[in-house]
Amino acid sequence: MLLPLVENHMYRRLKKILLSPIDVFVFHAVSDVYDDTVNEKVDWTLTEEFKRYILSLKNHYKFISSSNAYIKLKSDLTRSNKYAVLTCDDGFKSVLGILPFLEEQGIPVTLFVNPKYLDGKSKREGYAVNPQYITREELWNLTSPLISIGMHGYEHNDATEMTKDEFTGSVDKCIELLQQHPRYIPFYAYTWGKHSDMTQSVLREKKIVPVLTDGESNYRYRQGISRKPIDGYYLKRR
Ligand SMILES: [Zn+2]
Repeated sequence: MLLPLVENHMYRRLKKILLSPIDVFVFHAVSDVYDDTVNEKVDWTLTEEFKRYILSLKNHYKFISSSNAYIKLKSDLTRSNKYAVLTCDDGFKSVLGILPFLEEQGIPVTLFVNPKYLDGKSKREGYAVNPQYITREELWNLTSPLISIGMHGYEHNDATEMTKDEFTGSVDKCIELLQQHPRYIPFYAYTWGKHSDMTQSVLREKKIVPVLTDGESNYRYRQGISRKPIDGYYLKRR
């Protein structure tokens, strides 16, 4: 009875030696001044703090794109380099201010956006004012090879509270409105990381890569790509 457990333990240790993790990080809003009418503190980082943290990650990891990480997770038999991927959810306008820094550092970033708010008028539920989202024009101006654009739902709703038809409709609208973007990738970051067997099967059918927010590292591709939050709120708790 004990042997499979020992083997399992040894296998996990061996896997960690032969296969370095790919850590995928997610942030939301970054700005010089905190504005509570635009963001929630849990989703915000001071610009200087963000830069300092990214530079410290750069000392430990080689940054690669989401698509490259997906390929590696699917095909690497061994992996000696420690890789990191940077992602950003919600598409807040303030993020445009940090992109030149990431470009300068040669760091790829994937922006997961809700296409409904790209019209400059639509408000996200729960926000007192329009939280200043990136507009469609601004998004279409982002053509750097270091940037990729993924989906975060048509609106910022909880996927697990939708019917299968509602979730499918939301994904289809995302594809329709984003797939013409030159940097579009078929990756879908769940809002608040919430997902179910239903949402997973819808994405699988559409050959879309699910992106989770479960705090885990990635070794091999299983049911999606795991992520760790790095907004200021989480950095202070490290
Ligand atoms: Zn979100």
